[in-house]
Amino acid sequence: MRVAKETVVAIEYTLKDDQGNIIDASGERGPMEYLHGAQNIIPGLEQGIDGLVAGDTKNVLVPPQLGYGEYSDKLIQLVPLSAFGANTPQVGMRFHAETNLGMRVLTIKKIEGEEVTLDGNHELAGKTLHFDIKVVSVRAAEPTELAHGHPHQSGGCCGGGGCGSGEGSGGGCCSTEEGSEGGCCSTEEPAAAQKQGGCGSGGCGCS
Ligand SMILES: [Zn+2]
Repeated sequence: MRVAKETVVAIEYTLKDDQGNIIDASGERGPMEYLHGAQNIIPGLEQGIDGLVAGDTKNVLVPPQLGYGEYSDKLIQLVPLSAFGANTPQVGMRFHAETNLGMRVLTIKKIEGEEVTLDGNHELAGKTLHFDIKVVSVRAAEPTELAHGHPHQSGGCCGGGGCGSGEGSGGGCCSTEEGSEGGCCSTEEPAAAQKQGGCGSGGCGCS
């Protein structure tokens, strides 16, 4: 079976930047499963996988406009320290917040005196992404998966195996760390390869 719309695809991947640094990898988490054609993953990667069959390997180059977008200065904002109330903000902290562009993950970039600089860009915005991928399996999606817009797998993402080991990896499938770039099991900002979370928003407990 070829990868096409309405198939559930499992891939192993390694993601590198222009310098060849590894940004993320499926690695020990095991293959990432997603519903093809449902915007589960970034468009450039999905296009690169389209038409492949199980066992295929490929290098997929994803420019920013087909990945996490260009870096935008408009997503930088200053807020007063007092906005954090009793919480103590620290550089590098991430949190979800409502902005004039909708709900976004904001990263604290700088704290100067009473002024906190927040960056709403995705950490991979503006970057060209180099994926080495291997298609592990391709199967037809179940009707419930099509209805939910994400795969329901027993292993991997939100099921039994393999998640949460990628500490600090920039977001794995099921990272549970607060404010992380978690993928499948969080409702926002999924793993590097994923555009929208799989099991999170519709709920992994969505049997
Ligand atoms: Zn579901």
